[in-house]
Amino acid sequence: MPGMIASDKVEVLAQVDVLVIGAGSAGCCAAISSAQQGANTMIVDRYGFAGGTSTAVLDTFYGFFTPGETPRKVVGGIPDQVVDALAKHDAMFLRPNTYGAGTGVTYNPDVLKWVWDRLLISNGVKLLLHTLLIDVEMDTAGRIIGVVVATRQGLRRIKAKRFIDASGDAELCHLAQILCEKAGEIDPAQTLTTTFRMVNVDFEKFNAAGGKQMLSQKMAAVDLEKHPLPRRKGSFHAMPIPGCAATVAVRVADVDPMDSEQLTDAEVQGRQQAFVFEKFVRECVPGYEKACIGGLSVHIGVRESRRVYGEYRLTRDDCMTARTFEDTVLVCGAPIEDHRQGKDGQDETAWAYVPDGQVYHVPYRTLIAKDRDELWVVGRCFSATHDAHASCRSMGQTMSMGQAAGMAAAMSLDQACGARDVSVTGLQDQLRTLGAVLQMPDKPADISANGWGANR
Ligand SMILES: Cc1cc2nc3c(=O)[nH]c(=O)nc-3n(C[C@H](O)[C@H](O)[C@H](O)COP(=O)(O)OP(=O)(O)OC[C@H]3O[C@@H](n4cnc5c(N)ncnc54)[C@H](O)[C@@H]3O)c2cc1C
Repeated sequence: MPGMIASDKVEVLAQVDVLVIGAGSAGCCAAISSAQQGANTMIVDRYGFAGGTSTAVLDTFYGFFTPGETPRKVVGGIPDQVVDALAKHDAMFLRPNTYGAGTGVTYNPDVLKWVWDRLLISNGVKLLLHTLLIDVEMDTAGRIIGVVVATRQGLRRIKAKRFIDASGDAELCHLAQILCEKAGEIDPAQTLTTTFRMVNVDFEKFNAAGGKQMLSQKMAAVDLEKHPLPRRKGSFHAMPIPGCAATVAVRVADVDPMDSEQLTDAEVQGRQQAFVFEKFVRECVPGYEKACIGGLSVHIGVRESRRVYGEYRLTRDDCMTARTFEDTVLVCGAPIEDHRQGKDGQDETAWAYVPDGQVYHVPYRTLIAKDRDELWVVGRCFSATHDAHASCRSMGQTMSMGQAAGMAAAMSLDQACGARDVSVTGLQDQLRTLGAVLQMPDKPADISANGWGANR
């Protein structure tokens, strides 16, 4: 029930123009964008650092570049400012790839935590960490007018004129009883992954022994009695930290991430799998003999949980036909990458590509919760079907959603209108001025490892 806790007895901590719930890649870009437009903006997160999945779990932004023989850079604006700051600190490189999810921007996630801090604070965003959203306050017309958060000082209320749900799990929408699709409700939910970093890897030896291809062969031929790998695939890739490899290999299936007991089991299973992989690479893979796990993800990575039903739902057909929309606020060329468990328990990731060399448009309406004027939804919980989400979930796109919604929220205050009545052409003009990409560029991108600067 919304308002179970919200009451006049709870002290008001702050009153702001725009409140962003969740400081993941989408939320941070939303807050920065809103503040850049002059709105008094606050962002809250339950953790002690910003970045969400980008810093707690991962190390590579996908979605900046289209896959294929002549990649194009299709993300810009605030996401570029993020990568520029990483580049300035020598904490990123491009990881060229023709297919897969395309070329990645691989970074040091701890430097990224600091980059998020600085970008938020220097743009005037009020950052409040260790703050958990637990309730919503609504007026008699059903409009959200505030939230209740659990802070270090106890329960507090935060009042705002506009709200952006960037919680990944659509927590604010769920509390406000706004309709969401739960992962697994219609299509099988994507699997979960605990990532881990191996330190003291001898990459020279690894590459001399055949590198990535050799690793795939070793995995395919593994003695499962000795090394019960949960799957015989996975990415072990170098990071901008000497001797350090990041992995996306663990796979935990059939979990409801909104159920604490199931999520606890998944965390335990994920860690256990990580150490099975560690033993395997140390014993079987040249270059990893003296390596060990030097860090596990802060928590298991959840690919999908809840997605809101918005003013428009992006569909598989939209992605696969490279559909265009008049109210586009970002574009995407990433394939559908649906991590599933196969029949024999083995990996069965399903890939489907956007027509070669093309992108689809993502309409502004996918970022507005249905029939709401005060609420935008960005990132992992935006309005899309399972398949469309499996394409449009890369961080190049979640950051682009954030910058569009943050800008729209601030504009709605300037224009004294609701989310649905913001001038879309005005929004698109402002986004282009910021550097956002709203259509396929003509110029091919430079995807060489040090090519970032050439694309700016
Ligand atoms: C295992 C895995 C591998 C992936 N691989 C890649 C990859 O290599 N490259 C890529 O580009 N994309 C990848 N993705 C997808 C991408 O990482 C996500 O779609 C994206 O990071 C989601 O960003 P977000 O900001 O929407 O959500 P999140 O990053 O999940 O951020 C949500 C934030 O909200 C906060 N929050 C949640 N609830 C509350 C609450 N009640 N109160 C306060 N704060 C709250 C959380 O703490 C978190 O910081 C992967 C995803 C997973 C899970």
